Amino acid sequence: MKAVLLLSGGLDSTLVAEMMVKEGIELVAVNYKTPFCQCDKKGVHGCAHTALTVASRLGITCRVINAGDDFLKVLQHPKHGYGANMNPCQDCRILFFKKAKEIMAETGASFMITGEVVGQRPMSQQKRQMAMIEKEAGLEGLVLRPLSARLLPPSIPEEKGWVDRERMLAISGRSRKPQVALAKTLGLNDYPCAAGGCLLTDPAFARRVRDLKVHGPFDMPNIELLKVGRHFRLSERAKLVVGRNEQENNFLLRVARPGEPVFKTIDVAGPVALGRGDFLPGHVEFAARAVAWYADLGARASTDISHTVVGKGEAVVIPSRPLAEEELVKFRI
Ligand code: SF4
Repeated sequence: MKAVLLLSGGLDSTLVAEMMVKEGIELVAVNYKTPFCQCDKKGVHGCAHTALTVASRLGITCRVINAGDDFLKVLQHPKHGYGANMNPCQDCRILFFKKAKEIMAETGASFMITGEVVGQRPMSQQKRQMAMIEKEAGLEGLVLRPLSARLLPPSIPEEKGWVDRERMLAISGRSRKPQVALAKTLGLNDYPCAAGGCLLTDPAFARRVRDLKVHGPFDMPNIELLKVGRHFRLSERAKLVVGRNEQENNFLLRVARPGEPVFKTIDVAGPVALGRGDFLPGHVEFAARAVAWYADLGARASTDISHTVVGKGEAVVIPSRPLAEEELVKFRI
């Protein structure tokens, strides 16, 4: 039998891939990347790297699907709401399942397999929600969850004997001890993204997403900007982003658009700041003084900050004293 496997490359889906290959199921692995995946925190290999490594070790094909704009729509208006932060897990799973269904049709696969574990995640991996997600995706009965299958009603693949229910597992809950033990018995010791990694579950990042949802535009370039620097909401229509290191400073310079203000120190080390939206004179002063606050001033009380507007000629030099910390904190997102 052929099945589509959702393969994140984390511990659970890797275990399931190993189990199903042993069961003799022909797998078509699918790795979904959202803009919020942070399995590869250093950005060296990319988030799909682990999934591709697992797939290649097992000799199975793996498609990497970038759930970009579709995912942003779901994130902006999730039918089933958000989890503890800005994670629309149920709608996210429905989206992934629907895409898996398309790939099932395309590849002639008869069912779908996931590494989900009952009770592992409060929002999307409770029995009732699992059933709802399956139904809304049009995959009722066709999703096999080998790690928890014996705790769930038999799926069609089990009923039809495509897989042996007796060899499926009954793991539940948030502890990963059973999976770690199983990994040992299977000789697996490399699963870098064991607990998954979605920025939307991070409270600080979620605050920025909420702010963008209110003030917009809610598009991919602005989402990418949320991952960088310190963010300050200056007005309904203006925000400031201040780099935290050289890499972020370079990123801000790269993404600055014509007409946007950029602020830099001139004769001391300090950050780059990018203004986005309708920048008024008061915002310019705030930005210059914020850059001065983060600059390496030593014993100096003030420093010169350069203010350029991308595509509009010469820099203006603004002598600036650092802001008071409470002013910074007040505007920080
Ligand atoms: S944690 Fe993120 S990637 Fe995972 S289901 Fe929730 S929204 Fe989707």
